[in-house]
Amino acid sequence: MRIRTQCRDCGFPFSTEIEPDRAVDCPSCGARCGIPADSWEGSRVDACALCGCEHLYRQRDFNRGLGCLLVVIGAIFVPWTFGLSLVALSLVDLWLYKRLGDTVVCYRCDTVYRDAKPTPRQTEVDLLKHDVVKYGKTWQELPPEDTGSPVSNAAPSGPASEETGSAA
Ligand SMILES: [Zn+2]
Ligand SMILES: [Zn+2]
Repeated sequence: MRIRTQCRDCGFPFSTEIEPDRAVDCPSCGARCGIPADSWEGSRVDACALCGCEHLYRQRDFNRGLGCLLVVIGAIFVPWTFGLSLVALSLVDLWLYKRLGDTVVCYRCDTVYRDAKPTPRQTEVDLLKHDVVKYGKTWQELPPEDTGSPVSNAAPSGPASEETGSAA
């Protein structure tokens, strides 16, 4: 099972291949993390092998930076290709996206299981759940409205407006 993870001791991100019942050593600080023997079956991961968290989500194994780069390149060539470059590179982008498989990611420690196939229970990331699992927020602590609604800047009274009395 190929994974991308972060060392819990020093925070160093690294990719590695894990096997059941074999420890993973951090390439930076050497901290060891044991992998339980029954962590997963085949390509199905029900709980994170590194931290034991049962909350996992699916994520496309897609390099977002590359996707943005392709669109930027397409935009640069627009004047010479009458916009077709943008269409062509967007299609390449889409093709790459479709071609790549899903991975399974741990809500708590962000470990990416690149060879895992998500189960139906493992849905797209829920940011609220992510915060709750990772930072231990409780539902009561959440503000009643935390959706990014634009703040209305309509002043209740406008004393700044100058009154131009026409006296001529
Ligand atoms: Zn480390
Ligand atoms: Zn985990």
